[in-house]
Amino acid sequence: MTPLQGIHHITAISGSAHRNYRFYTKVLGMRMVKKTVNFDDPGTYHLYYGNEKADPGTLLPFFPWEGSAPGRQGAGQTGRIYLKAEPGSLAGWRERLARYGVAFVDGRYGLEFQDDEGMLLGLAESNEPPGQGGFWGLELRVSEAGSMESLLEKMGARRVEPGHFQLGPHHLLVVADPQRGTSGAGTVHHVAFRLPDEESHREWQGRAAAWGWGATPVIDRNYFKAFYFRTRAGILFEVSSDTPGFTVDEPLEDLGKALQLPAQYEAHRARIEPILPPLEVPYHVLRKPGDVREWVLALHGTGGDEHDLLPLVARVHGRASLLSPRGNVLEQGMPRYFRRLAPGVLDEADASRRARDMEEFLADQVPAAARLTALGYSNGANLAAA
Ligand code: ZN
Repeated sequence: MTPLQGIHHITAISGSAHRNYRFYTKVLGMRMVKKTVNFDDPGTYHLYYGNEKADPGTLLPFFPWEGSAPGRQGAGQTGRIYLKAEPGSLAGWRERLARYGVAFVDGRYGLEFQDDEGMLLGLAESNEPPGQGGFWGLELRVSEAGSMESLLEKMGARRVEPGHFQLGPHHLLVVADPQRGTSGAGTVHHVAFRLPDEESHREWQGRAAAWGWGATPVIDRNYFKAFYFRTRAGILFEVSSDTPGFTVDEPLEDLGKALQLPAQYEAHRARIEPILPPLEVPYHVLRKPGDVREWVLALHGTGGDEHDLLPLVARVHGRASLLSPRGNVLEQGMPRYFRRLAPGVLDEADASRRARDMEEFLADQVPAAARLTALGYSNGANLAAA
């Protein structure tokens, strides 16, 4: 019988497709290797991040359910996910995380930090297997370690030390957590382990059923075959085949560029596409050339647009080049630059994230040597201050 070969993918929940896309592609530099929909709920995305080749063992898919309440990682769920960092690369990662305003600490296995929605992440140095990115391992949070440890051994994992197992190249850390987890944004939905082909996958499904694991039948997930079982600790496990793989519907160089729909939804593409939120939220911008060394950034108030402050800009700095972006956060149809929780109550975390987005946008738009003056009204002034 072919042994399980480590982690295939880890699927998690997000409350915002845009924030999720930004964090995993821009901050962590992963590639989006598949943009598709949730096969059980085609009005929502299923976004897969991974390495350049979408190799099993590097795949981190998300269900972005817009506006879902945050969950809490705890017993009955997987906990921190450790990504593999090249040996000697942690100093560079510290700089990169700091540049994006991501707080981190040095933990037992490497850097520990969270994504924008509180999902626990880590970066651990490892050179095996060399290159290719992917997972170092993950925590399995349980209220009682015994049943999980014997299950892992039955699945072929090797005990490295108490509570620390290895399956293929991946580390599985069994962590006792007195508090039960709750599902929601920033938590893991399930973890999948890999088998090389559909034949070994079928054999394992038969074995799991015979062992009384409550395994589902084999399900076709387009890019792999899957069966699922709920562990006694409450964590949902999946077993997946490496085949047919992610190039079944688009070539390697195009992975993740276009929305891929399974056959049953292709006929409804025109209805599905407009429901899905945009991943990149570009600013609609008004630019007026002037003095190349003097630039003004004009930021309107809630419900305004890129034309609002032009008379004021003309009076205070008429010769400068102008950049006037329209806010890309809509509050009941009114453009703003960041969210608020209620009138007068700012979402400060969102304000600082959006300020960093604006900073990246300005770095592209304004020559580095130029002097930039921001002129903002109300919400625009708050963003300028942030
Ligand atoms: Zn899965």
